[in-house]
Amino acid sequence: MNNTAVLQPPRAETFGPRPFARWDANPSVRLGQLGAEPPMDDLVNQLHQTVHGFADRVMRPIGRDLDRLSAEQVIATGSQLWSFRDAYASLGINMEALASFPPELMPDIFAILFEELGWGDAGLAISAGVDLMPHYMAAKFGNEFVFKAYPEELIGCWGITEPDHGSDSLDANGAIFHAQGKYGRPNCVAKITDGKVIISGQKSAWVSNGPIAELAILYCAAETKDGVDPRRGAVVIVPLKSLGVSKGKPLEKMGQRALPQGEIFFDNVELDIDHLLVAPEDYKKGVYAIHSEANALMGGYSPAVLAQLTSMPMLMPMSASRAACRSSATRMWPSACSTWRARSNCPGR
Ligand SMILES: Cc1cc2nc3c(=O)[nH]c(=O)nc-3n(C[C@H](O)[C@H](O)[C@H](O)COP(=O)(O)OP(=O)(O)OC[C@H]3O[C@@H](n4cnc5c(N)ncnc54)[C@H](O)[C@@H]3O)c2cc1C
Repeated sequence: MNNTAVLQPPRAETFGPRPFARWDANPSVRLGQLGAEPPMDDLVNQLHQTVHGFADRVMRPIGRDLDRLSAEQVIATGSQLWSFRDAYASLGINMEALASFPPELMPDIFAILFEELGWGDAGLAISAGVDLMPHYMAAKFGNEFVFKAYPEELIGCWGITEPDHGSDSLDANGAIFHAQGKYGRPNCVAKITDGKVIISGQKSAWVSNGPIAELAILYCAAETKDGVDPRRGAVVIVPLKSLGVSKGKPLEKMGQRALPQGEIFFDNVELDIDHLLVAPEDYKKGVYAIHSEANALMGGYSPAVLAQLTSMPMLMPMSASRAACRSSATRMWPSACSTWRARSNCPGR
């Protein structure tokens, strides 16, 4: 793998005020890679170079090859999807690394990470993002059980969308629900009883990583002694090897074909109550939390995809997605860190 970083940090004299005597005779603005953003921290610069190289040299060729395969072939043993996963794992972007970064750098780290991954391949980028979701959200909710019970290496996914209800499970306030609408029965319900959570129903074929996932963070309606209520739902960690879990065929799509997506079915899947990350009374907080993170991630991918389509550099979108990350709750992490490069064994370096 070529070790040359594609992106270079700006030279010192390219930023900071220039004495008037050295101004050009006919001054004009020259924006650099980051537009009007101030220079990035050294650690963030290193991450930027590392992930950009990875996106260029690993993700782009693999994404192109996977795009030509059927959805079944993409997830088959020996597919390059697995080479991508191995290479991405060697970057060391795991919960331990994320928790070690100074909180004030997290908005930049998140925006740059997901912009660069999105620039590499939008589908593979989403696969990497949702993979992190079960442990990432568990950390956010202050839940230690998930870390003790389930290794981070398990492939993660995020179950929200339902065949009859779209992504309504994330509209706990009913903000987009029609005033005269009747909700009907949710497709997926977690019954909360003494000491158990019992899940029945399904999530739609849109679940990213669904066909390959081993651990899900599930957002769904809850059934308590007061009945079924989608507005007071539940967030549950579901090991997908559990009795009663089954999966549909991987979804054939027109785009993002490198991203495996598919249905997950739950037939009275019984879990210990420890798997309940957010109870019905806190569901709105759980929804807010995932919106703030997932929107920041999507805010990172989207300008990258736009930049890819238009062959434009990522200037203004960089600021926009960093602003999105700043408003998210990514600032929760404790600090104390060494540098990214020291930690990572990255093929893109
Ligand atoms: C690249 C990509 C990745 C994604 N990743 C994930 C993922 O990881 N996990 C996941 O769960 N989802 C995922 N999704 C799905 C995504 O979250 C939803 O497709 C998206 O949010 C659209 O949902 P919606 O509710 O806005 O729209 P729609 O599903 O179109 O729903 C709009 C409205 O119509 C109503 N409605 C929908 N279907 C019916 C019906 N049959 N009968 C009556 N009313 C109906 C809904 O109640 C809703 O109010 C992904 C989608 C894409 C494109």
